[in-house]
Amino acid sequence: MQEPLPAWAVTRAGPDCLPKEPFDIAEVFRRLRRECAGLPPAALFALRDASFHSPFALLVAALLSARTRDETLLRVVPPLLARAPTPRALLDLPEEALNQLLAPVTFAEAKARYLRQLCTVLLQQYGGRVPDDPAALRALPGVGPKTANLVLGVAFGRPAIAVDVHVHRVTHRWGYTNAATPEQTEQQLREKLPEEYWVEINERLVPFGKFVCTGQRPHCSRCPLLTLCRQVGVGAHR
Ligand code: SF4
Repeated sequence: MQEPLPAWAVTRAGPDCLPKEPFDIAEVFRRLRRECAGLPPAALFALRDASFHSPFALLVAALLSARTRDETLLRVVPPLLARAPTPRALLDLPEEALNQLLAPVTFAEAKARYLRQLCTVLLQQYGGRVPDDPAALRALPGVGPKTANLVLGVAFGRPAIAVDVHVHRVTHRWGYTNAATPEQTEQQLREKLPEEYWVEINERLVPFGKFVCTGQRPHCSRCPLLTLCRQVGVGAHR
């Protein structure tokens, strides 16, 4: 599907810039898939592919992922879930054992508290199961829109868009969204992104945003999307 350039998406111009093609989201995803095949996968998707794909496993991993490096998360989550594969088992862990298992992640003590509160609610209100309802998920302790949508999309296979800093920044640079907050970006994407890409966009843009379209100095000159992307807000040609 080809879309005309929206009025607010400034096209870069100048002798050093390549001419831009119409923004074709299917072509964007084709190129993203090829690029991401050579990049480390996002931690949540790596865990999913390593059999940690239950709603509880992904909920725990997503909650622990805030401000924690992927490498650390991938070291912490498997042994934690081996000891505590269910909310009951996690609550049965002695506090010291849980703190030790979580020690490498940032804000370990606060996250341990959230995990205990989360497991208590899951047991008391949902019989130890993770709810598959968006509002119920978002009401759980420590669960925001991004985490809820990741669990809905990846664990339950529901159409949901998890907008983190990478999805927010990269879609803005493409000229595909122009929202001020991740929540508004999610709303704009819900209105224009074909549903077949709703879960995949997070899987692709997390590694792409970490290694190619980086926060401070995006690598535009070697980016496979250069001829499609409007490079909104990107300063000097890179
Ligand atoms: S790296 Fe540059 S060309 Fe590639 S998506 Fe980001 S802003 Fe666009």
